[in-house]
Amino acid sequence: MHLIPYPSGTVQLFNGICKLPDRITIKNEGFQDWSITAFLTRTGVQVGQSGFTVFLRRDDALPAEAYRLSIQPESITVTAQSERGVIWTLTTAVHLLRNGRLPCCEIEDRPRYPHRGVLLDCARHFFPVETVKRVVEGMSLVKLNVLHWHLSDDQGWRIESKRFPKLHEVSGAFYTQNEIQELVEYARNRGVEVVPELDMPGHTTGILAAYPAYSCTEKQVSLASTGGIYPTVLCPGKEETFHFLEELLDEIIPLFPGPRFHIGGDEAPKINWAVCPHCRARMQAEGLTELSDLQGYFTRRVQSILKKHGKQAICWNETLLAANAPEDVQIQYWTLQHRRAMEPFLRRGGQWIYSDMFELYLDYPYSMTSLKKVYHTIPHLGKAPCSQKDGLMGMECCIWTEHITDSKTLEQMLFPRAWAMAELCWSGTRSDRDFEERLSAMLSERLASAVHVAPKESWNPKGKSRRQESLAYYKNMNAGMSEDVRKQTVQSTNPNREFARSFMRKFFQVSDLPFLLGAMKKSKERI
Ligand SMILES: [Zn+2]
Repeated sequence: MHLIPYPSGTVQLFNGICKLPDRITIKNEGFQDWSITAFLTRTGVQVGQSGFTVFLRRDDALPAEAYRLSIQPESITVTAQSERGVIWTLTTAVHLLRNGRLPCCEIEDRPRYPHRGVLLDCARHFFPVETVKRVVEGMSLVKLNVLHWHLSDDQGWRIESKRFPKLHEVSGAFYTQNEIQELVEYARNRGVEVVPELDMPGHTTGILAAYPAYSCTEKQVSLASTGGIYPTVLCPGKEETFHFLEELLDEIIPLFPGPRFHIGGDEAPKINWAVCPHCRARMQAEGLTELSDLQGYFTRRVQSILKKHGKQAICWNETLLAANAPEDVQIQYWTLQHRRAMEPFLRRGGQWIYSDMFELYLDYPYSMTSLKKVYHTIPHLGKAPCSQKDGLMGMECCIWTEHITDSKTLEQMLFPRAWAMAELCWSGTRSDRDFEERLSAMLSERLASAVHVAPKESWNPKGKSRRQESLAYYKNMNAGMSEDVRKQTVQSTNPNREFARSFMRKFFQVSDLPFLLGAMKKSKERI
């Protein structure tokens, strides 16, 4: 059976064929109507009087996303506990459909991990809402269920704001509130939760270019035109900053009905905080001695705004560097330099998402993170592999767009690598050959028409072409970055020895070393 993700439970094939007619009757035991919307769209089938019935049965004993699919000659029976369970059942049915026919069968299926996500960065470069929809469809077809939508950064702010219109006016390209609501509904119909991210207190040039009063220096800054880490960040010393954030979040949060909200917390330089009278006064008033704890204070204040709206906060793992970081945030782990702070968090039973940059950052080319490599990712902290019993909620691959400017490239970088992670998160890794066979079969059907997919010969580059592609990417990584930003980036990232070793080991091969050193030397000479 050609399915990705491969079902985790039993699969039984029977003799007999089910011909799906143009019109079906639905017998629904209380699921929301939108749970069949994607099925109708994908198959072109209509609901009406028909001898063919699709039964939607509720079984509250099943886990949230689990399902049973039973296909008989004259009916399809879906058994699930939630709307998402219904969506996944019918998604499986869609993949089994060939020329209007389905094989008679029974499938029992459920995911390993509840969080199976894709981070899409629409701040560094803006992508039209149609592209975001295509990505959501490409996710939903393999039962990925979280779109982490990165909507603000140093290069832009991407949400129409009626209270603070300068935000979207300064950035130029943005999503209207109507477009956002439309996208959220489109995603819901496909089983995908939209988790917006407003990154703060760092990566906030997009905000401060419009409202400089909320930085320490109040200096007018302009939007960043390259990647990197920028020193001008929100000032947690001023009470006005929190008034502004509260009003802003009061407007933005209701656009996203899901239970969670991402508030970033990564790569926040503290050089301005160290000399800002407001920040110093705040530290004194709160009895804080470390600048990192001032970020902890900031996180708590923003989290309390989210709590007022009943939202769960998610933060990047640097957030835990603050001794006073809140304990009840979910953590997205991406960078090993700061992994020690994960240990006490895990001991307290914290929940987290695995997004290690060396394995699941899909803005790196296939030569550095091949399809095979993604498919064999084992979540780990240091050398220790991790699983559900360590509070791990699942995995999320990330596509950052400093260097990605068009929709086709964006989709080809995501697919099929995101599909490999989808299977990992749902039922686990099988053999590479088995995976690629199913992938090729599915590509000749629905997947290829849903999104742009990288051509097969680029999935696992080898030999000279692998090295050339990797070195070209490496040389271009910091292209155009000013010397200030480059320095700030190195300082803030703190690329320690373990980082450097992993960078070499995970992205390159030993035989690349002389070429890599050559490239490093050349880039230093340019400085
Ligand atoms: Zn300040």
